[in-house]
Amino acid sequence: MSGTASLHPMLVPMFETVLQRNAGEPEFQQAVLEVFQSLGPIAERRKEYTDWSIIKRICEPERQIIFRVPWVDDKGEVHINRGFRVEFNSALGPYKGGLRFHPSVNLSIIKFLGFEQVFKNALTGMPIGGGKGGSDFDPKGRSDNEIMRFCQSFMTELYRHLGEYTDVPAGDIGVGGREIGYLFGQYKRITNRYEAGVITGKGLTWGGSQARKEATGYGVVFFAEEMLRRVNDSFDGKRVVVSGSGNVAIYAVQKATQLGAHVVAVSDSSGFVVDEDGIDVDLLVDVKEVRRERLTEYSAQRPHTIYTEVGDNSSIWNVPCDIALPCATQNELGEEHARELVANGVKLVAEGANMPTTPAAVHLFQDAGVLYAPGKASNAGGVATSALEMQQNASRDTWDFETTEDRLREIMIGIHDECVLTAEEFNVDGDYVAGANLAGFMRVATAMSALGVI
Ligand code: GLU
Repeated sequence: MSGTASLHPMLVPMFETVLQRNAGEPEFQQAVLEVFQSLGPIAERRKEYTDWSIIKRICEPERQIIFRVPWVDDKGEVHINRGFRVEFNSALGPYKGGLRFHPSVNLSIIKFLGFEQVFKNALTGMPIGGGKGGSDFDPKGRSDNEIMRFCQSFMTELYRHLGEYTDVPAGDIGVGGREIGYLFGQYKRITNRYEAGVITGKGLTWGGSQARKEATGYGVVFFAEEMLRRVNDSFDGKRVVVSGSGNVAIYAVQKATQLGAHVVAVSDSSGFVVDEDGIDVDLLVDVKEVRRERLTEYSAQRPHTIYTEVGDNSSIWNVPCDIALPCATQNELGEEHARELVANGVKLVAEGANMPTTPAAVHLFQDAGVLYAPGKASNAGGVATSALEMQQNASRDTWDFETTEDRLREIMIGIHDECVLTAEEFNVDGDYVAGANLAGFMRVATAMSALGVI
C-alpha cells in the first residue's frame, strides 16, 4: 500500500501487522493508514501518548459479530443476507454508530466505518465509544413489508448484543426513520422493555430528538461556516455543489441555502442534476424521502434543469463551484475529480459522507491550498445529536428544535476549534486532517491508558 513512506518508523511494523491481519480489506487499511500518517508528531512532542501498545489495541475491534439474516420476500421467496456489527472501542462510552444497508457492505467497509467512528465520536466530546454495523441487503425496490421483515430478522439476532449501556446503533446509508422504527419495534418486542436509549434516529413521537434528521447535513455546513469564518469569509453568495441526495445531502443543501449560498447541483448513484435556479429542497425531500424516486423525477418537475448520467467523463465534480460538500459515499471523489475542482477554483471541501475523498485527492487539495475537512470532524453532527437524543431519553425529557440545533452548532464549533488548536500545537497549522486525528486519538488514548490493558 502506498503512503507508508510517510509513516513514523515506529508505526511501520504496526501498519504491516494491520495489513497482514486484515488482508483483503482495502477500505479498512486505507482508514488506518490515514490516521497513522497523522500520528508521527505524537512521538516527538507528547511522550505520554507514545505507549505504542495503545495504537496496536486501537486497530483491533473489541468484538466483531457476523450473522445470517434470512427473510421472505413478497412472493414467498427466501433470501439470505449477511449481518455485521463491529464493536470497535468502548473506552469513552457504549459502542455508538450507525447501521448501513447496501449491497456493497462487507467486513472491510464496516470496519473502516467503525474505526472512523471511534475518533469521530471522541471529537464530539460526548461519552460515546465507536461501532458500526449493517448488511449487504439492498433496500432498493423493496416494499415496506419486505423492509419490515428484513429489519425484524436482522434485530432478532442483533438485539442480544445491544443495550443503552452496551451498544447503541442508529442509521446510515439505507437506514432511515422507517428502518429505525422497525428495528426498535422488534427490539422492544423481544426484550419487553421500552428502552428508548438503545437506538437513535427515532421518530419524534416515540423517543426521537428534534434536529436529529437534519443534524449531519446541518453540522457539515456549521463546520464549513467556521472554516470560512477563520479566513474572514462566509457562505453568502457562494456557489455550492453537494454530492448525494440522501439524508446528509438534503439537509446540507437546506442549511447552506439558509446561509445565503447558491446550491446548484446534487447527485444520486445514476446521475446528477444541475439547477442554476438553486436546488429546491422541498421538491428534493418529496422525490427522495417521500416518493423514494430517482433524481430524474426532480429534473422532470423542473424543466430548466440539466440531468446527466454518471459516466467516465461526466461527474458532479465537473460542475464549477466555490464549495464542494461530498455527501454520498466512500471514495466518490478521486484524484481526477479533485484536479477538476481545483482547476475550476474550488476554495473549500468539507466531507458529509465517511471517507468520500481518496487519499490522492486529499493531498491534491491540501497542496493546492484548498480548505479541506475530513468527515470524522465535519460530519460528526449526526452522531453528536444521537448522543443528545440519548441524553433526552435518559432524563425522559424532550428539547425543542432551537435548543437542540443550538447545541449542535456549539458542538460543531467546538470540534472545529479543537482541530485548529491541535493542528497549531503540533505545528501543522490549518491541517484539519492532522488536527482531527491527533485530537481524537489523544482523547481515546487517555481513556484507554487509564482503563488498563483490556
Ligand atoms: N451513521 C452516522 C455516522 O456516520 C451516525 C451514527 C449515529 O448517529 O450513531 O456518524
